[in-house]
Amino acid sequence: MSLALTVHRGTQEIGGSCIELADSSGERIILDAGRPLDAPEGATGLLPQTLDRSRPATVIISHPHQDHWGLVEELPQDWPVWCGPHAASLIRVTGEVRRQPLDRELRSWEPRQGPMRIGAFTVTPILTDHSAFDAYMILIEAAGKRVLYTGDFRRHGRKSALVDRMMTDPPGKIDVLLMEGTNLRSSKPVKSETELEAEFLELFEGTPDRVFVSWSGQNIDRTVTLYRAAKRAGRTLVIDLYTADVLDRVAEGTGVPRPGFPNLKVVITRSLARNYRRQGRADFVDRMAAHAIPARALARDRHWVIMLRRALMRDYIDAGVQPSARDAYNFSMWRGYLDDAYHAEPHDWCGAAGARLAYIHTSGHASPDDLRRFAVAVAPKTLVPVHGVHWDDPGLEFSDVRRLGNGERWQIR
Ligand SMILES: [Zn+2]
Ligand SMILES: [Zn+2]
Repeated sequence: MSLALTVHRGTQEIGGSCIELADSSGERIILDAGRPLDAPEGATGLLPQTLDRSRPATVIISHPHQDHWGLVEELPQDWPVWCGPHAASLIRVTGEVRRQPLDRELRSWEPRQGPMRIGAFTVTPILTDHSAFDAYMILIEAAGKRVLYTGDFRRHGRKSALVDRMMTDPPGKIDVLLMEGTNLRSSKPVKSETELEAEFLELFEGTPDRVFVSWSGQNIDRTVTLYRAAKRAGRTLVIDLYTADVLDRVAEGTGVPRPGFPNLKVVITRSLARNYRRQGRADFVDRMAAHAIPARALARDRHWVIMLRRALMRDYIDAGVQPSARDAYNFSMWRGYLDDAYHAEPHDWCGAAGARLAYIHTSGHASPDDLRRFAVAVAPKTLVPVHGVHWDDPGLEFSDVRRLGNGERWQIR
Protein backbone atom coordinates (compact mmCIF):
# COMPACT_ATOMS: atom_id res chain seq x y z
CA MET A 1 0.00 0.00 0.00
CA SER A 2 1.12 3.54 -0.63
CA LEU A 3 -0.25 7.02 -0.17
CA ALA A 4 -0.17 9.85 -2.70
CA LEU A 5 -0.49 13.53 -1.89
CA THR A 6 -1.77 16.17 -4.30
CA VAL A 7 -2.15 19.81 -3.30
CA HIS A 8 -4.70 20.89 -5.90
CA ARG A 9 -4.57 24.49 -4.80
CA GLY A 10 -2.59 26.36 -2.18
CA THR A 11 1.09 25.67 -2.82
CA GLN A 12 1.66 29.25 -3.92
CA GLU A 13 -1.24 31.15 -2.44
CA ILE A 14 -3.31 31.92 0.63
CA GLY A 15 -6.85 30.61 0.32
CA GLY A 16 -8.71 28.30 -2.02
CA SER A 17 -7.15 25.36 -0.16
CA CYS A 18 -7.77 21.90 -1.59
CA ILE A 19 -5.58 18.89 -0.79
CA GLU A 20 -6.01 15.22 -1.71
CA LEU A 21 -4.69 12.04 -0.13
CA ALA A 22 -5.23 8.84 -2.12
CA ASP A 23 -4.22 5.29 -1.31
CA SER A 24 -3.17 2.82 -3.98
CA SER A 25 -6.68 1.35 -4.22
CA GLY A 26 -7.93 4.82 -5.19
CA GLU A 27 -9.73 5.69 -1.94
CA ARG A 28 -9.50 9.41 -1.32
CA ILE A 29 -9.76 12.04 1.40
CA ILE A 30 -10.03 15.69 0.36
CA LEU A 31 -8.87 18.25 2.92
CA ASP A 32 -10.79 21.50 2.42
CA ALA A 33 -12.65 22.79 -0.64
CA GLY A 34 -11.85 26.48 -0.27
CA ARG A 35 -12.88 29.41 -2.36
CA PRO A 36 -9.94 31.45 -3.67
CA LEU A 37 -9.85 34.80 -1.85
CA ASP A 38 -9.64 36.74 -5.12
CA ALA A 39 -12.60 34.97 -6.78
CA PRO A 40 -15.21 37.49 -7.96
CA GLU A 41 -18.52 37.56 -6.07
CA GLY A 42 -20.92 35.00 -7.54
CA ALA A 43 -18.30 33.27 -9.72
CA THR A 44 -18.72 29.50 -10.07
CA GLY A 45 -16.76 26.63 -11.61
CA LEU A 46 -13.85 27.38 -9.32
CA LEU A 47 -12.83 23.88 -8.20
CA PRO A 48 -9.26 23.08 -9.24
CA GLN A 49 -9.19 21.37 -12.67
CA THR A 50 -6.87 18.67 -11.35
CA LEU A 51 -9.45 17.44 -8.81
CA ASP A 52 -11.07 14.35 -10.36
CA ARG A 53 -14.81 14.52 -9.69
CA SER A 54 -15.67 11.30 -11.52
CA ARG A 55 -14.66 9.06 -8.60
CA PRO A 56 -15.88 9.06 -4.98
CA ALA A 57 -14.12 10.92 -2.18
CA THR A 58 -14.77 12.07 1.39
CA VAL A 59 -14.18 15.72 2.26
CA ILE A 60 -12.91 17.05 5.59
CA ILE A 61 -13.28 20.80 6.24
CA SER A 62 -10.70 22.09 8.72
CA HIS A 63 -12.56 25.25 9.81
CA PRO A 64 -15.43 27.57 8.85
CA HIS A 65 -13.52 30.16 6.79
CA GLN A 66 -14.65 30.40 3.19
CA ASP A 67 -11.16 30.00 1.79
CA HIS A 68 -11.44 26.45 3.23
CA TRP A 69 -15.09 25.50 2.62
CA GLY A 70 -16.48 27.99 0.08
CA LEU A 71 -16.63 25.51 -2.84
CA VAL A 72 -18.45 22.63 -1.11
CA GLU A 73 -21.56 23.34 -3.19
CA GLU A 74 -19.57 22.56 -6.33
CA LEU A 75 -18.53 19.10 -5.12
CA PRO A 76 -20.48 16.05 -6.32
CA GLN A 77 -23.61 15.61 -4.17
CA ASP A 78 -22.65 12.07 -3.16
CA TRP A 79 -19.32 13.07 -1.60
CA PRO A 80 -19.74 13.14 2.18
CA VAL A 81 -18.53 16.40 3.77
CA TRP A 82 -17.32 16.39 7.38
CA CYS A 83 -16.48 19.26 9.74
CA GLY A 84 -16.65 20.27 13.41
CA PRO A 85 -20.09 20.58 15.05
CA HIS A 86 -19.95 24.36 15.57
CA ALA A 87 -18.23 24.79 12.23
CA ALA A 88 -21.29 23.20 10.60
CA SER A 89 -23.57 25.79 12.26
CA LEU A 90 -21.33 28.66 11.20
CA ILE A 91 -21.14 27.43 7.60
CA ARG A 92 -24.94 27.17 7.49
CA VAL A 93 -25.50 30.64 8.97
CA THR A 94 -23.33 32.19 6.23
CA GLY A 95 -25.51 30.67 3.51
CA GLU A 96 -28.75 31.59 5.27
CA VAL A 97 -27.91 35.25 5.80
CA ARG A 98 -27.15 35.51 2.08
CA ARG A 99 -30.43 33.73 1.47
CA GLN A 100 -28.61 30.94 -0.35
CA PRO A 101 -28.90 28.15 2.21
CA LEU A 102 -26.39 25.36 1.79
CA ASP A 103 -27.88 22.64 -0.36
CA ARG A 104 -26.08 19.74 1.23
CA GLU A 105 -25.76 17.80 4.42
CA LEU A 106 -22.73 18.44 6.61
CA ARG A 107 -21.68 15.57 8.83
CA SER A 108 -20.02 16.62 12.03
CA TRP A 109 -17.82 14.88 14.52
CA GLU A 110 -18.27 15.04 18.29
CA PRO A 111 -16.77 17.96 20.25
CA ARG A 112 -13.99 15.75 21.67
CA GLN A 113 -13.85 13.30 18.82
CA GLY A 114 -11.09 10.68 18.88
CA PRO A 115 -9.85 8.87 15.75
CA MET A 116 -12.62 8.17 13.19
CA ARG A 117 -12.50 5.45 10.60
CA ILE A 118 -13.38 6.66 7.09
CA GLY A 119 -12.86 3.77 4.67
CA ALA A 120 -9.16 2.98 4.59
CA PHE A 121 -8.30 6.19 6.46
CA THR A 122 -8.12 6.96 10.16
CA VAL A 123 -8.92 10.64 10.65
CA THR A 124 -8.36 12.47 13.94
CA PRO A 125 -9.57 16.08 14.23
CA ILE A 126 -7.47 18.03 16.75
CA LEU A 127 -9.09 21.24 18.03
CA THR A 128 -6.76 24.21 17.55
CA ASP A 129 -6.36 27.98 17.97
CA HIS A 130 -7.41 30.19 15.04
CA SER A 131 -9.57 33.26 14.40
CA ALA A 132 -12.31 30.93 13.15
CA PHE A 133 -14.29 29.18 15.88
CA ASP A 134 -14.14 25.36 15.97
CA ALA A 135 -10.93 25.07 13.88
CA TYR A 136 -9.02 21.80 13.67
CA MET A 137 -5.73 20.32 12.65
CA ILE A 138 -6.32 16.96 10.96
CA LEU A 139 -4.22 13.84 11.49
CA ILE A 140 -4.64 11.24 8.76
CA GLU A 141 -3.29 7.72 8.91
CA ALA A 142 -3.39 5.35 5.95
CA ALA A 143 -1.14 2.87 4.16
CA GLY A 144 1.31 2.97 7.08
CA LYS A 145 1.82 6.75 6.72
CA ARG A 146 0.93 9.58 9.06
CA VAL A 147 0.06 13.01 7.68
CA LEU A 148 -0.67 16.07 9.81
CA TYR A 149 -2.50 19.01 8.20
CA THR A 150 -2.40 22.19 10.29
CA GLY A 151 -5.32 23.94 8.58
CA ASP A 152 -4.97 27.56 9.71
CA PHE A 153 -3.63 28.08 13.22
CA ARG A 154 -2.02 30.46 15.66
CA ARG A 155 -0.52 30.29 19.10
CA HIS A 156 -1.63 33.62 20.58
CA GLY A 157 -5.44 33.41 20.67
CA ARG A 158 -7.81 32.30 23.39
CA LYS A 159 -7.07 28.61 22.65
CA SER A 160 -3.27 28.90 22.51
CA ALA A 161 -2.91 26.26 25.24
CA LEU A 162 -4.12 23.65 22.74
CA VAL A 163 -1.20 24.38 20.40
CA ASP A 164 1.28 24.57 23.28
CA ARG A 165 0.11 21.17 24.49
CA MET A 166 0.50 19.75 21.02
CA MET A 167 4.06 21.06 20.80
CA THR A 168 5.03 19.55 24.16
CA ASP A 169 3.42 16.26 23.29
CA PRO A 170 3.30 16.09 19.48
CA PRO A 171 1.71 13.21 17.60
CA GLY A 172 4.82 11.14 16.85
CA LYS A 173 6.29 9.75 13.63
CA ILE A 174 4.75 12.25 11.24
CA ASP A 175 5.72 11.47 7.65
CA VAL A 176 4.29 14.66 6.18
CA LEU A 177 3.41 17.94 7.84
CA LEU A 178 1.20 20.07 5.61
CA MET A 179 1.68 23.49 7.23
CA GLU A 180 0.16 26.89 6.56
CA GLY A 181 2.50 29.88 6.24
CA THR A 182 0.26 32.96 6.00
CA ASN A 183 2.49 35.13 8.19
CA LEU A 184 5.90 33.80 7.09
CA ARG A 185 7.25 37.20 6.18
CA SER A 186 5.31 39.28 8.66
CA SER A 187 7.58 41.27 10.94
CA LYS A 188 4.76 42.61 13.12
CA PRO A 189 4.83 41.28 16.67
CA VAL A 190 1.79 39.15 17.38
CA LYS A 191 -0.35 40.20 20.30
CA SER A 192 -2.52 37.89 22.33
CA GLU A 193 -6.27 38.47 22.70
CA THR A 194 -5.55 39.32 26.35
CA GLU A 195 -3.21 42.12 25.28
CA LEU A 196 -5.89 43.34 22.87
CA GLU A 197 -8.39 43.36 25.72
CA ALA A 198 -6.12 45.76 27.65
CA GLU A 199 -5.74 48.00 24.57
CA PHE A 200 -9.49 48.06 23.99
CA LEU A 201 -10.06 48.90 27.65
CA GLU A 202 -7.73 51.87 27.29
CA LEU A 203 -9.53 53.02 24.14
CA PHE A 204 -12.95 52.64 25.77
CA GLU A 205 -11.88 54.51 28.90
CA GLY A 206 -10.14 57.26 26.94
CA THR A 207 -13.05 58.01 24.59
CA PRO A 208 -15.65 60.53 25.83
CA ASP A 209 -18.56 59.15 23.81
CA ARG A 210 -19.16 56.08 21.65
CA VAL A 211 -16.68 53.61 20.20
CA PHE A 212 -17.54 52.11 16.82
CA VAL A 213 -15.78 48.85 15.94
CA SER A 214 -15.64 46.81 12.73
CA TRP A 215 -14.90 43.13 13.18
CA SER A 216 -16.07 39.82 11.78
CA GLY A 217 -19.14 38.44 13.55
CA GLN A 218 -17.70 34.95 13.13
CA ASN A 219 -14.45 35.91 14.90
CA ILE A 220 -15.77 34.82 18.26
CA ASP A 221 -12.43 35.29 20.04
CA ARG A 222 -12.66 38.96 19.08
CA THR A 223 -16.29 39.27 20.20
CA VAL A 224 -15.25 37.84 23.58
CA THR A 225 -12.34 40.29 23.82
CA LEU A 226 -14.57 43.26 22.97
CA TYR A 227 -17.26 42.10 25.38
CA ARG A 228 -14.82 41.70 28.27
CA ALA A 229 -13.20 45.09 27.66
CA ALA A 230 -16.61 46.79 27.33
CA LYS A 231 -17.78 45.28 30.59
CA ARG A 232 -14.62 46.33 32.41
CA ALA A 233 -15.06 49.87 31.09
CA GLY A 234 -18.70 49.96 32.21
CA ARG A 235 -19.86 50.09 28.60
CA THR A 236 -22.37 47.96 26.71
CA LEU A 237 -21.36 46.06 23.58
CA VAL A 238 -23.90 46.41 20.78
CA ILE A 239 -23.92 43.63 18.19
CA ASP A 240 -26.05 43.20 15.08
CA LEU A 241 -28.61 40.44 14.49
CA TYR A 242 -26.16 38.36 12.49
CA THR A 243 -23.54 38.34 15.26
CA ALA A 244 -26.30 37.58 17.78
CA ASP A 245 -27.34 34.64 15.59
CA VAL A 246 -23.75 33.36 15.48
CA LEU A 247 -23.39 33.55 19.28
CA ASP A 248 -26.85 32.09 19.82
CA ARG A 249 -25.89 29.03 17.75
CA VAL A 250 -22.51 28.24 19.25
CA ALA A 251 -22.42 29.65 22.79
CA GLU A 252 -24.50 26.91 24.46
CA GLY A 253 -22.31 24.97 26.87
CA THR A 254 -19.36 27.37 26.46
CA GLY A 255 -18.36 30.53 28.33
CA VAL A 256 -18.96 32.60 25.19
CA PRO A 257 -21.26 35.60 25.80
CA ARG A 258 -24.65 35.50 24.13
CA PRO A 259 -27.81 37.63 23.99
CA GLY A 260 -29.17 37.83 27.53
CA PHE A 261 -25.76 38.50 29.10
CA PRO A 262 -25.35 41.84 30.93
CA ASN A 263 -23.57 44.63 29.03
CA LEU A 264 -24.62 43.08 25.72
CA LYS A 265 -27.39 44.38 23.45
CA VAL A 266 -28.60 43.48 19.99
CA VAL A 267 -29.40 46.36 17.66
CA ILE A 268 -32.36 45.46 15.46
CA THR A 269 -31.73 47.22 12.17
CA ARG A 270 -34.45 47.37 9.57
CA SER A 271 -32.63 45.67 6.70
CA LEU A 272 -31.18 42.76 8.71
CA ALA A 273 -34.51 42.18 10.45
CA ARG A 274 -36.18 42.06 7.01
CA ASN A 275 -33.52 39.62 5.82
CA TYR A 276 -34.20 37.29 8.76
CA ARG A 277 -37.96 37.49 8.26
CA ARG A 278 -37.51 36.58 4.61
CA GLN A 279 -35.39 33.60 5.66
CA GLY A 280 -38.48 32.47 7.59
CA ARG A 281 -36.78 33.30 10.88
CA ALA A 282 -39.16 35.89 12.29
CA ASP A 283 -39.12 33.80 15.48
CA PHE A 284 -35.42 34.54 15.94
CA VAL A 285 -35.95 38.30 15.52
CA ASP A 286 -38.85 38.16 17.98
CA ARG A 287 -36.80 36.18 20.47
CA MET A 288 -33.96 38.73 20.24
CA ALA A 289 -36.40 41.55 21.03
CA ALA A 290 -35.93 40.81 24.73
CA HIS A 291 -32.24 41.78 24.44
CA ALA A 292 -32.62 44.46 21.80
CA ILE A 293 -32.27 48.18 21.44
CA PRO A 294 -33.50 50.24 18.48
CA ALA A 295 -30.85 51.92 16.30
CA ARG A 296 -32.05 55.37 17.43
CA ALA A 297 -30.85 54.58 20.98
CA LEU A 298 -27.31 54.67 19.56
CA ALA A 299 -27.84 58.35 18.70
CA ARG A 300 -29.05 59.20 22.19
CA ASP A 301 -26.87 57.46 24.76
CA ARG A 302 -23.09 57.55 24.85
CA HIS A 303 -21.75 54.50 26.64
CA TRP A 304 -21.94 52.09 23.74
CA VAL A 305 -19.33 50.04 21.91
CA ILE A 306 -21.10 49.66 18.57
CA MET A 307 -20.55 47.11 15.83
CA LEU A 308 -20.18 48.89 12.49
CA ARG A 309 -20.23 47.53 8.95
CA ARG A 310 -21.27 49.13 5.69
CA ALA A 311 -24.43 47.00 5.69
CA LEU A 312 -25.45 48.64 9.00
CA MET A 313 -24.50 52.21 8.11
CA ARG A 314 -27.64 53.21 6.25
CA ASP A 315 -29.91 52.00 9.05
CA TYR A 316 -27.78 53.87 11.58
CA ILE A 317 -27.91 57.07 9.49
CA ASP A 318 -31.69 56.75 9.06
CA ALA A 319 -31.97 56.43 12.84
CA GLY A 320 -30.00 59.66 13.31
CA VAL A 321 -26.69 58.08 14.33
CA GLN A 322 -23.79 60.31 13.29
CA PRO A 323 -20.21 59.87 14.51
CA SER A 324 -18.50 62.91 16.03
CA ALA A 325 -15.11 64.06 17.24
CA ARG A 326 -16.03 62.76 20.70
CA ASP A 327 -16.30 59.19 19.33
CA ALA A 328 -13.65 56.68 18.31
CA TYR A 329 -13.52 54.09 15.54
CA ASN A 330 -11.48 50.90 15.53
CA PHE A 331 -10.94 48.61 12.56
CA SER A 332 -10.34 45.12 13.95
CA MET A 333 -9.58 43.06 10.85
CA TRP A 334 -6.63 42.59 8.54
CA ARG A 335 -5.56 46.10 7.40
CA GLY A 336 -5.46 45.06 3.74
CA TYR A 337 -9.28 44.85 3.70
CA LEU A 338 -9.37 48.64 3.96
CA ASP A 339 -8.48 48.76 0.24
CA ASP A 340 -11.99 47.42 -0.29
CA ALA A 341 -14.82 49.99 -0.37
CA TYR A 342 -17.01 47.74 1.78
CA HIS A 343 -14.57 48.11 4.66
CA ALA A 344 -13.23 51.59 3.88
CA GLU A 345 -16.64 53.31 3.97
CA PRO A 346 -17.36 52.94 7.72
CA HIS A 347 -13.74 53.86 8.46
CA ASP A 348 -13.97 56.99 6.31
CA TRP A 349 -17.43 57.88 7.64
CA CYS A 350 -16.03 58.05 11.18
CA GLY A 351 -12.76 59.64 10.08
CA ALA A 352 -14.54 62.45 8.22
CA ALA A 353 -16.51 63.26 11.38
CA GLY A 354 -13.25 63.70 13.30
CA ALA A 355 -13.59 60.50 15.36
CA ARG A 356 -10.33 59.12 16.73
CA LEU A 357 -9.16 56.29 14.44
CA ALA A 358 -7.55 53.27 16.12
CA TYR A 359 -6.26 49.93 14.90
CA ILE A 360 -6.40 47.25 17.56
CA HIS A 361 -6.14 43.83 15.96
CA THR A 362 -4.09 40.65 16.00
CA SER A 363 -3.66 38.06 13.28
CA GLY A 364 -5.53 34.77 13.15
CA HIS A 365 -2.33 33.07 11.99
CA ALA A 366 0.89 31.95 13.66
CA SER A 367 3.92 34.25 13.67
CA PRO A 368 7.07 33.20 11.74
CA ASP A 369 8.71 32.14 15.02
CA ASP A 370 5.72 30.03 16.05
CA LEU A 371 5.62 28.39 12.61
CA ARG A 372 9.29 27.48 12.96
CA ARG A 373 8.90 26.20 16.50
CA PHE A 374 5.83 24.20 15.55
CA ALA A 375 7.65 22.49 12.66
CA VAL A 376 10.61 21.69 14.95
CA ALA A 377 8.31 20.25 17.62
CA VAL A 378 6.43 18.02 15.16
CA ALA A 379 9.69 17.00 13.43
CA PRO A 380 8.11 15.53 10.29
CA LYS A 381 10.08 13.53 7.76
CA THR A 382 8.88 16.01 5.13
CA LEU A 383 7.34 19.46 5.42
CA VAL A 384 4.98 20.35 2.58
CA PRO A 385 4.21 24.10 2.55
CA VAL A 386 0.71 25.37 1.79
CA HIS A 387 -1.40 28.52 2.35
CA GLY A 388 1.42 31.04 1.90
CA VAL A 389 3.10 33.23 -0.69
CA HIS A 390 6.60 33.45 0.79
CA TRP A 391 7.60 29.80 1.01
CA ASP A 392 10.30 30.25 -1.65
CA ASP A 393 11.93 33.27 -0.02
CA PRO A 394 15.61 32.81 0.81
CA GLY A 395 16.67 32.28 4.41
CA LEU A 396 13.52 30.65 5.73
CA GLU A 397 15.17 28.08 8.05
CA PHE A 398 12.83 25.12 7.64
CA SER A 399 14.31 21.69 7.05
CA ASP A 400 13.21 18.74 4.90
CA VAL A 401 10.91 20.92 2.84
CA ARG A 402 9.33 19.51 -0.29
CA ARG A 403 7.82 22.15 -2.58
CA LEU A 404 5.01 20.80 -4.70
CA GLY A 405 3.33 22.51 -7.62
CA ASN A 406 -0.46 22.84 -7.66
CA GLY A 407 -1.92 19.54 -8.91
CA GLU A 408 1.41 17.67 -8.73
CA ARG A 409 0.94 14.13 -7.42
CA TRP A 410 3.62 12.97 -5.00
CA GLN A 411 3.98 9.43 -3.71
CA ILE A 412 4.74 9.85 0.01
CA ARG A 413 7.96 8.04 0.88
ZN1 LIG B 1 -7.20 30.20 5.31
ZN1 LIG C 1 -8.79 30.52 8.41
